[in-house]
Amino acid sequence: MTIKTMDFERWWQLAPSGLVVLDERGTILQINQTLVDWLGCSRKRLIHQSASALFTTESHLLYQGVLAFRLSAIGVVDEVHLHLQGTNGNAFPVLCSARRLDAPDPPLTLLAMVPIVRKDQLEQELLEARQAAQNALKENKLVINELEAMRVKLESHNQELQRLTMQLSQEARSDPLTDLPNRRHFELALEERFARASINRHSDVFSVAILDIDHFKPINDTYGHAVGDEVLQQLALLLSSQMRGSDLAARIGGEEFALLMPETSLEEASHALERLRLAIEAHSWQPVPITASIGVAGYQAGDTKENLMARADRALYKAKHLGRNHVAKS
Ligand code: GH3
Ligand code: MG
Ligand code: MG
Repeated sequence: MTIKTMDFERWWQLAPSGLVVLDERGTILQINQTLVDWLGCSRKRLIHQSASALFTTESHLLYQGVLAFRLSAIGVVDEVHLHLQGTNGNAFPVLCSARRLDAPDPPLTLLAMVPIVRKDQLEQELLEARQAAQNALKENKLVINELEAMRVKLESHNQELQRLTMQLSQEARSDPLTDLPNRRHFELALEERFARASINRHSDVFSVAILDIDHFKPINDTYGHAVGDEVLQQLALLLSSQMRGSDLAARIGGEEFALLMPETSLEEASHALERLRLAIEAHSWQPVPITASIGVAGYQAGDTKENLMARADRALYKAKHLGRNHVAKS
């Protein structure tokens, strides 16, 4: 197959890049059809123009300072990013390479340009994708912060719930007037003690006592209920200060208190309770002195809660019968 000069001419015109031939002063001698089409003006207007006229004002400086300068210095320039100036006002980005053709004298220059619209688009898309990723990251951080705030709130609600639960169970087990454990608490403690006694094959040693204020009703009747309440509170404080740390003192009724004394025989308990009775008697009560009667019972193998408490109750009755302000044992 032979290639004719005419074919070369056609390929030059239709090459997928813009081609320009310049003389040694940079004047356009030839321009191919592809570039003419990109610029959108007539070939006639371009021939004999300075090549710099092909570019936007911003690209002039690059053309003169980089492309023309390097070309005259070394005769080769590759991929300078310039913008063609289209007649419709659009700037058209191209990568421009140039070669000095030394063969004719004076030398000619061949400029070749490839469009980089697609690259610009890709860069723009990349920029947008990066921005979107940054936004997503920001949103993600916001969601994480929100979740953290919810977790902290939940934790504090949880703590509040725990506190309330503890407070409720504490309230369910204590007497609001004196702050001492109530009857329910005393019974649970006694149950525990009996469970332990049964594990120890009933060889456990402990005592229980019931204390009742003597002639309390006249105090209420004479001085009023509020004064009676104060006496009950004072007695609760006295019990707490007089008894051993291991003893449990509870308010089980109006002016009735129960004591659970672990590791304490009936004799030891009787002595300790006698000291308590004397302390109550000696206390400077307002507005009138008070005394208390105490019944005490020691645990015996085979006892149940009920019959142990019943013995303490019978002992209390005995103490009252002896004229009150007594400790009686059973
Ligand atoms: P005794 O020597 O036989 O025990 O006589 P008492 O007057 O102490 O006994 P009684 O059972 O006749 O009276 C108990 C009184 O305790 C009756 C009631 O008014 C009073 N009381 C019960 N609970 C409370 C209370 O919470 N506060 C006050 N202020 N008084 C109470
Ligand atoms: Mg009573
Ligand atoms: Mg009484």
